Amino acid sequence: MSRLVIVSNRVGIPDGSARAGGLEVAIRPALKKRGGVWFGWSGKVTDGDPEAAATVVKDNVSYVTVDLQKDDYEEFYNGFANRVLWPILHYRLDLAEFTRRDLGGYFRVNEFFASNLEAVLRPDDTIWVHDYHLMPLAKALRERGHKNKIGFFIHIPFPPPEILTALPNHERLIPALGNYDLVGFQTVTDANNFSRYLEDEAGLKRLGTDSFAFEDRVVQVGAFPVGVETEPFAKLARRAVDTPFVRDVFTSLSGRAMIIGVDRLDYSKGIPDRMNAFERFLINYPDWHGNVTYLQITPRSRSDIQEYADIARQVGEAVGRINGTFGEASWTPVRYINKAHSRTALAGLYRASRVGLVTPLRDGMNLVAKEYVAAQDPDDPGVLVLSRFAGAARECTAALLVNPYDHEGVAIAIHRAMSMSLEERRQRHAVNYRALMRNDLSQWAERFLDQLERQPVEMPLRAGARR
Ligand code: UDP
Repeated sequence: MSRLVIVSNRVGIPDGSARAGGLEVAIRPALKKRGGVWFGWSGKVTDGDPEAAATVVKDNVSYVTVDLQKDDYEEFYNGFANRVLWPILHYRLDLAEFTRRDLGGYFRVNEFFASNLEAVLRPDDTIWVHDYHLMPLAKALRERGHKNKIGFFIHIPFPPPEILTALPNHERLIPALGNYDLVGFQTVTDANNFSRYLEDEAGLKRLGTDSFAFEDRVVQVGAFPVGVETEPFAKLARRAVDTPFVRDVFTSLSGRAMIIGVDRLDYSKGIPDRMNAFERFLINYPDWHGNVTYLQITPRSRSDIQEYADIARQVGEAVGRINGTFGEASWTPVRYINKAHSRTALAGLYRASRVGLVTPLRDGMNLVAKEYVAAQDPDDPGVLVLSRFAGAARECTAALLVNPYDHEGVAIAIHRAMSMSLEERRQRHAVNYRALMRNDLSQWAERFLDQLERQPVEMPLRAGARR
């Protein structure tokens, strides 16, 4: 079995300082089993020349990190990744702020990653690169002569070519993904969008349903929906609901039903639209006044980007308006919290909530939706109201699926969720829970790696050529 080399923008060094994120939970078992390297940015920015790569070894895994220079950080991370790729890949052409300088910084940092990574690479390593920061990395490695199996997984959405082609220099960036042996997406729709780009825009020859000829190699395309650890999360929620924190929240509700939303403060999450929908719910269904509390947990992110400051202001204003208009001395309709909460706290809060409100305008997967389902009591479950534009909607088909732009429609769905019979809630929950089990996080990494390693390095048949 080959050694595994994971490359991602940030590295989950097990030094106890960081919360275990989804990626870390998913790949840690595969890394431990095979031994290997996790390579990426240290999170540090230096003024002068970056120091040599730093290595921490734990068990049979080396965690290798490099610092970024100030310009790199501005152009690669804040610039091209967060101000161009993030909005465009979330279908928000209107928010993209393209500059050639940032694009140059993006390619430069990918070259920098490749040159530092090759110092630790062995010829038979399997390399797995993650996310939109590192799309050209395989190209940079191939140009240095590396013939390893290299896979890529993108955790965020991938739009159709009609949107991608509005990205200046897309011809330099997107076809470079052909240098990977396997490119994985969250949903079949994302995978099909990429395939359509390869065929229609880049002119690649389709060899099979999901494979294309790229130069003298084959690139495969597939959907690998990221899941949650369903049973462990359900167990955590059972325990968490009895912690003093969750009990205090529950007591503070004074018998009211709770609706919960949990999202980073990001324009892709549709929080202002959701507030408008909740306001519409209060206008259309006055019987719920005083009987429901909507808790929105929203840690801030990327605060130094203007669009994020704008969204923070919009949400703050909407919450103030709703509470001012509908609230009573004894009832606050919306509780809006910017503090991040632990997994345990969230698990307990999900279980204590009658409705999970997950209405992103566009989302690769949305793990909160899956965590909400996993956390429910199967005998008395809450109802998930889920945007059809979240990857999770492909699996949680028994949620109340909504169009987040349609505030009236979301308001109706909230009312329906709040009024749903126990029998219907149980049925819907059982269907969603089974879907979660089928795509459990515990199998995700191995499924991707199996396909990557099965994939032939050489082109099986040249178009029209004999073997
Ligand atoms: N999360 C958390 N604490 C918080 C808010 C969120 O631990 O205060 C976690 C949440 O449980 C989920 C992840 O952050 O696992 C968010 O993942 P998701 O796919 O929903 O959205 P992303 O932020 O990756 O776009």
